[in-house]
Amino acid sequence: MVKDEIIIGSHVSLTSPEYYLGSVKEALSYKANTLMIYTGAPRNSFRLPLEKFRLEEAFALIEEHHLDESKFIIHAPYILNLADNTKEDKYAFAISYLKDEVVRAEKMHIPTIVLHPGSHLGLGEKVGINNLCLALNEILADDKKVKIAIESMAGKGNEIGKNLEELKMIYDGVIKKERLGFCLDTCHLSDAGYNLENIDDFLQKVEDTIGIKNILVLHINDSKNPSGSHKDRHENIGYGFLGFETLLKFIYHPLLIDVPKILETPYFANKPPYLMEIANFKKKEFHPFKD
Ligand code: FE
Ligand code: FE
Ligand code: ZN
Repeated sequence: MVKDEIIIGSHVSLTSPEYYLGSVKEALSYKANTLMIYTGAPRNSFRLPLEKFRLEEAFALIEEHHLDESKFIIHAPYILNLADNTKEDKYAFAISYLKDEVVRAEKMHIPTIVLHPGSHLGLGEKVGINNLCLALNEILADDKKVKIAIESMAGKGNEIGKNLEELKMIYDGVIKKERLGFCLDTCHLSDAGYNLENIDDFLQKVEDTIGIKNILVLHINDSKNPSGSHKDRHENIGYGFLGFETLLKFIYHPLLIDVPKILETPYFANKPPYLMEIANFKKKEFHPFKD
């Protein structure tokens, strides 16, 4: 891969009848060179056996198109809440689910799982972060190499991980730091109150807290709301409060060039926007694609 080739893709689906083979085909249809999947429905934790996923055919297609699986991403279902340990069975379930997800990821040759840090539900940030760290230490106790990337959140309700300082507290509480990293979501960062227009100022803040080298994934989304709104409503690239030029800086910044960039922007007119959004980033020009 040439050094200045961007690593960009989107969330793609994994459904019957082609499952992972279909996911790879969908990514190729967007001219993407990476992808992010949920291993089942994002809102529940029911998972089919991997035998159904058509992995061998998917691996062959990946090889045929010279895609780099080491940049592929799994997103854990967002109903898991490791920040709350008051419902013991739910907390224990989330831990065992993620242990299984690590095994699934390894068998799918996908080295990174994105995880929402969760909501403290009134327990307070410190307790929530401690609950998350205890869970992560249990999940990462196995001998696998798959990494967990904690996603930065918009600060909706009682979400933890809403700023770099909280992400740093999570980093400090995890023992196997070599298997921990972060996913920075541009919509969430802006909604949390960060100004991303001056990317170098922002990256300095990252370096002073979690470290730029620990960014494993970037979620590239525009936002429907102004900075500091804590809303978490994604908008298509160039149609929101962040704008095309600011997001373009994240795609091409030399310190982020090896980090996979994943679009999670909304469908419009029931169609995915990713082919157009990726093309605009490759051209470094904004060409409108909806009104
Ligand atoms: Fe997410
Ligand atoms: Fe995200
Ligand atoms: Zn979001």
